[in-house]
Amino acid sequence: MSDRFVVVGAGTMGLGIAYVAAGADHAVELVEVDPARGAAAVDRLAELWDTAVRRGKLTADQAAANRARVTLRTALAEVAEEPDVVVEAVPERLGLKRAVLRDAETLRPALLASNTSSIPIAELAEGLAHPERFLGLHFFNPVWAMALLEVVVGPATAGETTAAAVALAGRLGKDPVVVRDMPGFATSRLGVTLGLEAIRMVADGVAGPADIDKAMVLGYRHPVGPLELTDLVGLDVRLDIARTLQAAYGDRFAPPRLLEDLVAAGRLGRKSGQGFYRWADGVRVGEADVTELTGGGSR
Ligand code: NAD
Repeated sequence: MSDRFVVVGAGTMGLGIAYVAAGADHAVELVEVDPARGAAAVDRLAELWDTAVRRGKLTADQAAANRARVTLRTALAEVAEEPDVVVEAVPERLGLKRAVLRDAETLRPALLASNTSSIPIAELAEGLAHPERFLGLHFFNPVWAMALLEVVVGPATAGETTAAAVALAGRLGKDPVVVRDMPGFATSRLGVTLGLEAIRMVADGVAGPADIDKAMVLGYRHPVGPLELTDLVGLDVRLDIARTLQAAYGDRFAPPRLLEDLVAAGRLGRKSGQGFYRWADGVRVGEADVTELTGGGSR
C-alpha cells in the first residue's frame, strides 16, 4: 500500500522523513516556508540518493524514482486535500506547532502526526477538530539509519489511529514502541538528561568533550557519546527540549548556561559547523574550543 504523505518542515528531520517515505514508495509533498532551507533540503536529498547509488544500496533508476516522488511546496495551501498522512516537523515551539497542525487538519488527513521530541500530544491537540486522528510519530536522527519510531498516544487518540501508526511504521521499515503521552516520552527524557549532565561536566572542567564521549562509548557501549549526539541533534533543538522538560518536571532539566551561551553564539553543532566539536562537510574534524564560555562552571 502506498500512502500520500505530507511532511511539514524540511529541516534535519523533515528531509529525513521525506527520504524514508519516498524510499518506501510513498508520494511525498515536503512543505518548507523558508526557500533557502527548501533548496538546501532538495540538494541534501539528491546527495543522499547519489550516495546510496555509489554504495550500491540503490540502482540509479530506483534513486531517480525515489527523487521523483518528492515534491517541494512552500505552503500547506499548495497541498492537495485528503492525504493519508501529515507529519509535522517544524521547530519545537508549542505555538508554532499548534498553528501548523490546525492548518494541516484543514487538509483532512486520515492520520495527523507530530514529530515533537518533548511536547505532550495533549497540548498539541488543543484546538484540533479531530484529536482522535492525531498522535506523535517520533522519528530519530538520521531518520534513514535509525530503526526506532516512538508512537506517542494522546488522551484523545483513537485506538485505530494508534493501530494505523504502528502499521505505517512497518511500511516505513521502522520498529515502533507505543508510549504514553508524558513530556519527553521514553527517549528524550533519558537522552536529554545524559546530554545536559555531559554539558555541565564540560563546564566544570571534568574532561574535554571527546574524552567524556569516549568514556560513554567505551565504558557504557553507547554508539555515540552524549556531546557528539547533542551536536548531531542540534544544540538549539536540545535547548528547546530542555526548556520544555524544565517546565514539566522542574529544574532537574534546567538548561546549563554553557548550552544557552553556545546557542546564543550560533554554535549549533554539525549543522552550523561548530558545537562541542568542529565539523566540515558533515564530518567531525576535532574538538571545538569552548573554554571561553565555561568561566562560571555549571549551575
Ligand atoms: P530544523 O530547525 O532543522 O527544521 C525545522 C524546519 O521547519 C525549518 O527548515 C523551518 O524553516 C521549517 N518551518 C518553520 N515553520 C514552518 C512552517 N510554518 N511551515 C513549514 N516549515 C516550517 O528542526 P529539526 O531538527 O528538523 O526538528 C523538527 C522537529 O523534530 C522538532 O520538533 C524536534 O524537536 C523534532 N526532532 C528533532 C530531532 C533531531 O535530532 N534534530 C530528532 C527527533 C525529533
